[in-house]
Amino acid sequence: MKHQYLKNQPDEKGYFGKYGGAFIPPQLEEEFNKITQAYLKLRKSADFLAELRSIRSHYQGRPTPVYYAKRLSEAIGGARLYFKREDLNHTGAHKLNHCMAEALLAKSLGKTKLIAETGAGQHGVALATAAAYFGLECEIHMGEVDIEKEHPNVVRMKILGAQVVPATHGLRTLKEAVDSAFESYLSQLDTALYAIGSVVGPHPFPLMVRDFQSVVGIEAREQFMEMTDGDLPEHVVACVGGGSNAMGIFSGFIDDPVELYAVEPLGKGTRLGDHAATLEYGQEGVLHGFKSILLQTEEGEPAPVHSIASGLDYPGVGPEQAYLRDIGRVNVRGATDEETVNAFYAISRYEGIIPALESAHAIAYAMQLAREKPDDAILVNLSGRGDKDIDYVVENFGIREVTL
Ligand SMILES: *Cc1c(COP(=O)(O)O)cnc(C)c1O
Repeated sequence: MKHQYLKNQPDEKGYFGKYGGAFIPPQLEEEFNKITQAYLKLRKSADFLAELRSIRSHYQGRPTPVYYAKRLSEAIGGARLYFKREDLNHTGAHKLNHCMAEALLAKSLGKTKLIAETGAGQHGVALATAAAYFGLECEIHMGEVDIEKEHPNVVRMKILGAQVVPATHGLRTLKEAVDSAFESYLSQLDTALYAIGSVVGPHPFPLMVRDFQSVVGIEAREQFMEMTDGDLPEHVVACVGGGSNAMGIFSGFIDDPVELYAVEPLGKGTRLGDHAATLEYGQEGVLHGFKSILLQTEEGEPAPVHSIASGLDYPGVGPEQAYLRDIGRVNVRGATDEETVNAFYAISRYEGIIPALESAHAIAYAMQLAREKPDDAILVNLSGRGDKDIDYVVENFGIREVTL
């Protein structure tokens, strides 16, 4: 039956198998119950769904196309590669899909403000965009170190009218930004919604963000079948940071006989601190209000992580990805920094598409899979465009030739 899996997962407490739940302080319980109850009603509300649909087509530019990467596929001489073009979604990535919906939820709850943390600023920019659209205030917490590193995104957020609050304690990066945003949220529960940026955090966020991203998979399945006279792809590939773009495209194919691949950043080595391959190397634990697989130090602290893609360097992963791995529904794979940069140049040169470094991880693995399965079709979620990454790539890796 259609969407059987999505109806059954998670359970009413927000668990996907043993992962998920809501590990939150008592003063937040009532508010999170309210959000959950409101959302369970809204997801069935014709008005809510109609407004989202209208925003997606008139403002975001959806549906984004599925594109057959003919030149790259033929050059590799393997499987046919197809890209779901989330880089063409307004603001240049899939993140706006859930930010617009979270902002609409906030409005429905009578809130006037959105709060979030951001690492590289991608979630901050998408949320500031949504806030501007709905006329909501927007407060983005960001580590002082990241503010300096990610200058263009900080400027974007300010232009869009967001207040950027620097986190000035500790290492002054993402972890401190989470603490800072959380503290601020606790003092304004009546007026603000904490808008989480991936399929992570306490229930109901992994459920909501998956639902909001599922538009990617639903569209892609229809589009692919239309292009191929009713076939399904044999393989669907996506990169995984928290797991939202992957859950988005996986949602469309989860009840189909299609292999799903979650591609993690293998970075520059297997040592803790040199990668962010959580599902590959992590262990069970609790972080940021939910139970999942995490990269931890021996002391049980979140481990330092590395990836050339700032959207992937998170020491945790969404609970549903952990569950789907455990039941064998999702295959966990990886791409190193080097393989990723090669893929970045490959689709730039062969297709005229500069991908986000996050998305280039998925493409790197798909290129390998294409060689192994020459008769198949592979659909990759091209989660975002790479304009944000061009200076970093050229400064650190130079202008490169492509190896296929
Ligand atoms: C943030 C980001 C990701 C990683 O987040 P997920 O929740 O794992 O999807 C991937 N691609 C792009 C372009 C991003 O901006």
